[in-house]
Amino acid sequence: MKKALPNFNEVFIFERFGKPVVWDFYAEEIVKFANNKGLVDSPKGNLVRLKLREWMSRYLKEGVSDDLLNDLNTALRKIRYAKYILPTDICPSDTGFPQNAYVAQYDKIPEPAQYAADDFSKLLTSGKLKRLKKCQIENCENFFIGPPQAKWCSKICGSKFRVRKKRKRDSL
Ligand SMILES: [Zn+2]
Repeated sequence: MKKALPNFNEVFIFERFGKPVVWDFYAEEIVKFANNKGLVDSPKGNLVRLKLREWMSRYLKEGVSDDLLNDLNTALRKIRYAKYILPTDICPSDTGFPQNAYVAQYDKIPEPAQYAADDFSKLLTSGKLKRLKKCQIENCENFFIGPPQAKWCSKICGSKFRVRKKRKRDSL
């Protein structure tokens, strides 16, 4: 098992093939995955990606609504958890003694929709969704986590925007 980063909020632990796996979690990675049209190589992976995009779109529209939480919990309820006692270097505790952790059994998750719900729940509980945005460049469709005033996902989309604005001005 890998040692956790000091910022424990950013670490998630799941079970695969009967063993706990520690993932140093970055919200940006999940958002990048949701955008990666060409790079998701399996049909199942692609379904997870599409479902994740649905959750993010919904969040941008309705925020943390009761409906969103109800639907999220319905999807999460189908995930099974295993109890582990984790060493303090992975799961730090105030008492200095090992702590309980309930760890999602990833290899037993039946549907892509539940993976997506689990990924989205990580994003939601991380607090990073406050800065979630969708790129405003037409045909881009990328989600990103950016500062309050940000309108596009990348420098490339930013320059597309400036080119279009200039063209518009020139045609007046
Ligand atoms: Zn973009």
